[in-house]
Amino acid sequence: MTYFDYGATTPIDNDVLEAYIKASKHFFANSSSLHFLGKEANQMVLQATSDIMRTLGLKNHKLIYTSCATEANNLAILGYTKASKKGRIITTCVEHASIYQTIKSLEESFDVVYLPVSNTGHINLDDLKQAMTQDTILVSIMWVNNIVGSIMDIKQVIEIVKQFPQAKLHVDIVQGLGKIVPDFDLNDVDMFTFSTHKLYGPKGVGGLFVKHGVTLHKIFYGSEAQNGLRPGTFDTSLIVATAKSIKKFYPLTSEHYTYVLALFNLLQDKLRSQFGIVVNTPRANVSPYVVNISIPSIKGETIVHHLEAAKMYVSTGSACSSKLQKPERTVLAMTNDNRLATSSIRITLSHLTTKDEVEALINILLQLF
Ligand code: PLP
Repeated sequence: MTYFDYGATTPIDNDVLEAYIKASKHFFANSSSLHFLGKEANQMVLQATSDIMRTLGLKNHKLIYTSCATEANNLAILGYTKASKKGRIITTCVEHASIYQTIKSLEESFDVVYLPVSNTGHINLDDLKQAMTQDTILVSIMWVNNIVGSIMDIKQVIEIVKQFPQAKLHVDIVQGLGKIVPDFDLNDVDMFTFSTHKLYGPKGVGGLFVKHGVTLHKIFYGSEAQNGLRPGTFDTSLIVATAKSIKKFYPLTSEHYTYVLALFNLLQDKLRSQFGIVVNTPRANVSPYVVNISIPSIKGETIVHHLEAAKMYVSTGSACSSKLQKPERTVLAMTNDNRLATSSIRITLSHLTTKDEVEALINILLQLF
């Protein structure tokens, strides 16, 4: 079996699993409990959080643990806008559904602007400059697109948003963390979200970093856990595992990037030279972890099953929407071509992927011609 769906989720790393098991055996108590066991669990959470902050070089953020990035994105958007009755929200038309649909749900009360993307999947910074107004309260722009891998220029986005002090910036860094060395300072971003299962950690945990001074309002009600912003008993071992994933993989970002870039070049060069294949992934400002292609004569679903017969696993879009067989929103926004958007597949790579696996994938794909 060959797995090419690392953008959907990653297998858990052995060291991370070991840390998870150890913590769940020893620190099972509720970290909010006042007794010794609770305090011990709480100490583990504090240690894990401080390790994460140190590893990422964060000086001025707090971290709210959630069950996944979808929940973290909802908390950021709904929690931040809750106190405002009106104002402008700027986002892009290629955000993950957990941003896109959440912001869509606010359209009745807010003036929402969806920035378009070019045929490379990038926003135009002039569009952002023009969209920014004195009543803009929130800008949410992803760092690395999960469907085609386009990298947004967050460094410049920070500069633009900074000129409007009433506007806060939220960045979804799910597909960038541990894959791309950021050319911007995470300390300059008001809120950002990540997901542990995209970084060789367990499913069921993610988080939202919020800069001190940014006020979030409750969207969940319950205990005072995590300052009441995400009440509910959380699993200490998932948090310990998150810290282990970040501590292990974040420092390896550059090394893994270089390794994966060679695989990406091999794969996309071969696919670009095949008549009948359209490579939707851009050539520049791109994550080497994502190669998105369309074979306009064949539905994406058919390609997925053709590869599955050879025990090779890719997806048609983001895993969450891939069963729906709708045109892929990002590919449609880039190409304005329904045929390309319904015939796309996403191949996502890892430092665990080998050259032999990539060559085998190319051979199986070329059998379609
Ligand atoms: N944001 C991006 C860019 C993603 O790729 C994904 C998952 O594919 C998510 C958010 C949601 O992550 P989770 O599965 O942790 O909810």
